[in-house]
Amino acid sequence: MTSFFNSERQLLVAKRQNLSEEDFIAWFNGWEPRLRLKKACMVRQRFRCCYCKKFRDSANCLHWDLEHILCAEIYPQFYDADGNLAIACSRCNNAKTDKDVLDPRVDRPPEVLPSDPAEYTIPHPYLSDWDEHLEHDNYFLYEGRSAQGTNLISVCKLNYRVEEAAGVLEGTIDAAIVSKFFRLLPPASMGLVPEGQAAQIAKAAVVANEEVAIDLQIAKLQPILDRAARREERLAQNVH
Ligand SMILES: [Zn+2]
Repeated sequence: MTSFFNSERQLLVAKRQNLSEEDFIAWFNGWEPRLRLKKACMVRQRFRCCYCKKFRDSANCLHWDLEHILCAEIYPQFYDADGNLAIACSRCNNAKTDKDVLDPRVDRPPEVLPSDPAEYTIPHPYLSDWDEHLEHDNYFLYEGRSAQGTNLISVCKLNYRVEEAAGVLEGTIDAAIVSKFFRLLPPASMGLVPEGQAAQIAKAAVVANEEVAIDLQIAKLQPILDRAARREERLAQNVH
């Protein structure tokens, strides 16, 4: 199970101990904790939505939703469980709303967060390997490779743009990708790339470009999280 950075976990445990349930939820929903948790998730997920996997080149917390994988309405006991928190784009979050993504056929103790990915009806952001369940064409056209993957497409309406433009052909998508990202191709490839390979090369350039941007974002954010962790360690030492 993936864990938050220690400072996030310590903060949650300390607040849980010191506050009533009501005050804890009010605190959790307050601005500061959400900012901290969102930023920890940004680094953990490398600035990708936990469902559609789309990259967003932004560390602005307003651009990300804090997502409860098992929704808070049905599973309040997992409200602050680190394995149940992720960041999602607001489009996926709004599509998923409070849909239940746990298989109701499995008997389980209600207080334990299920750690077997097979108990979920969608690929779990941390427990499952997304690529085993889905494939995508430039985050535009999604296809399920498993029942969970196909269900995620429906739960988060991942193919909304394709559905809006019903009848769009795969070749049209490839052509759009090539024209949109042609500036990313090495100049030497101008006019030399066989037509069939242009989309492949453009897609690889998009991925390489995203990875550079992700590393830059993490390099900016990590020192802020580290400073917060050190501040808490000092505070904890002063308290004891
Ligand atoms: Zn998304």
